[in-house]
Amino acid sequence: MSKLSVSQIIETDVLVVGGGGAATRAALSAAQMGASVRMAVKSKWLRSGSTATAFSELLAIAAAIGHEDERDEPEVHYEDTLDAGRGFIDPELVWTLASEMPDRIQDLINMGLNFDKQENGKLVQGMSDFATYPRTCRVNGVTARHILTTLSKQLKKYQTPVDEYTMIYKILTGKEGEVLGALGVHKQTNEIVLYKTPTIILACGGAHHIYKYAVGTPDMTGNGYAMAYELGVPLVNMEFVQIGPAAIQPSITLLSGPVWKAKPILTNNKGKQILENYIPKNISLEEVYRSKVFPFTISSPAFYLDTAIQRELETNPSRNGGVWCTMSEETKEIVEEKMPKTKGILKSKGINIFEDKFEVALVAQCMNGGALIETPNGETKVKGLYAAGETAGGVRGPDRPGGNSLAEGQVFGNRTGKAAASYAKSLTESVFNEEQDLQEGLDELNKLIKNGNGEKDLDNAIQSLKESMYRNCLVMRNKERLDEVLKKIDSLHYELETGEFNITNENVFDAIDLKHMLLVSRSIVLSALTRKESRSCHYREDFPNKDNVKWVKSVVISKQGETMDVHTRKWPSHRELEKKGTI
Ligand SMILES: Cc1cc2nc3c(=O)[nH]c(=O)nc-3n(C[C@H](O)[C@H](O)[C@H](O)COP(=O)(O)OP(=O)(O)OC[C@H]3O[C@@H](n4cnc5c(N)ncnc54)[C@H](O)[C@@H]3O)c2cc1C
Repeated sequence: MSKLSVSQIIETDVLVVGGGGAATRAALSAAQMGASVRMAVKSKWLRSGSTATAFSELLAIAAAIGHEDERDEPEVHYEDTLDAGRGFIDPELVWTLASEMPDRIQDLINMGLNFDKQENGKLVQGMSDFATYPRTCRVNGVTARHILTTLSKQLKKYQTPVDEYTMIYKILTGKEGEVLGALGVHKQTNEIVLYKTPTIILACGGAHHIYKYAVGTPDMTGNGYAMAYELGVPLVNMEFVQIGPAAIQPSITLLSGPVWKAKPILTNNKGKQILENYIPKNISLEEVYRSKVFPFTISSPAFYLDTAIQRELETNPSRNGGVWCTMSEETKEIVEEKMPKTKGILKSKGINIFEDKFEVALVAQCMNGGALIETPNGETKVKGLYAAGETAGGVRGPDRPGGNSLAEGQVFGNRTGKAAASYAKSLTESVFNEEQDLQEGLDELNKLIKNGNGEKDLDNAIQSLKESMYRNCLVMRNKERLDEVLKKIDSLHYELETGEFNITNENVFDAIDLKHMLLVSRSIVLSALTRKESRSCHYREDFPNKDNVKWVKSVVISKQGETMDVHTRKWPSHRELEKKGTI
């Protein structure tokens, strides 16, 4: 087997890793600043990640522009976001988000995005969770994809090269810890690409596909978190993973809040209705349906719906490991009113919801944790390394108002793009030393291949990790479950390190992906083990109550040598920042 070597060298001012809303906005803003920009996307641009593929009845982006209610202003957006995450997020970042979002919406309009409008020409704005006034703007039910397409059309004017099917797997740094470049692999040819660049914007989205079932595309395996962590960037709030119900066959379709107003009937594999068995006497089934929003939360009666699904899929699973779902003819009118898009999507997949039963399970949707950004420009503690969108941490806490994630991509995409471009342009010459700076990234691969003459199958290992995360770190967590998945992570890590897998030039990047998935899974599990309380989407059966005395703080995971260190962090309050003059 031949040793792997670099096939292509690309020099650029700014390398944007990812192809979603945050990445495309970042690339556009950097290109507008006159920098040379390159995008690397793990699979196909405009077809991969959450922005390109997200679907729900309510998909929308938040901006306090006051079109539905003029009382909605950035100050209210700021307060609402802090209320959902106070003590877990950085007020300065939140203020940046709330105050700049109206301008980013205007940018999109100027670029030609045709948001849904009221008769008076103002934008339609909907209510979302945690919002005081209607704030979310939408486009024809597939808001995120329209945002991405609009940005991409602008970016094409700058002829920014987009390297599709290129997975960035390693960031190269210099003596002072500054970014010098990155290594990527072309997933179809297995050729290695060296990017020489002083700035990298990580906008690789989330890590939902470390779970057996997830929305989005399979390339969401947390590479951004793993690469940042390896360079010493702390990961924050990783235990807060948004999870909720979705149809899982024939493909995954998220069942958002409005769907539950049509009262779908859930049955187990024995044909028994399940919800009544799990709802306490003082709560009605009606209340559970009424309160259901997409992500699981301990803070509403809908808690019993998600946990009932998990209990049943563990005891009486349907064919593909879920529960069965049917719609009652009696709710036909509500279906038409509340979930027309979901009905249409399911129909396009061959499911007539009034005639066919279909399988529903819990799926991972979005990460509220991420790689800590230290400034409103999305800078991390590594010189030249930025993060934006779902990869970035510090703006989303246990909860986040609906529409904020897409908004983050626009605000911090724009800021990171500009900041990276101006930093790159301020530098005089590249200090990249190929002999020295490249070696570590290639050695890692060659070592994996050299050692990887075992017989175990890598794909099976990846699948077994996903199954274990799904079984033990989903909506019902406790020490025993978390210890079990930790054991799994340890054993897979050991097998990878000691060469028990069959690794060749062809699948070595799956081995790297597994390494990253193990790292990210460990960070989630350790954070979940550390947080000895229940809050929002993090439910510990052994610590079922919220503890506002001990636990209003973030769990932080950071690299200490070869060990994953776990500690906690308190964030500055609004008042402290005001005193400092940063807000
Ligand atoms: C079903 C669903 C509904 C949602 N509803 C809403 C909503 O209504 N409002 C809201 O605000 N948010 C919503 N969200 C969340 C929101 O869509 C995402 O948080 C957001 O789109 C993330 O954007 P991003 O640019 O950070 O990443 P993504 O759009 O996920 O893009 C990530 C990109 O990174 C690439 N990538 C990954 N790893 C690498 C690598 N190593 N090298 C190169 N490229 C890499 C991927 O291929 C992909 O192109 C929803 C999400 C889902 C899935």
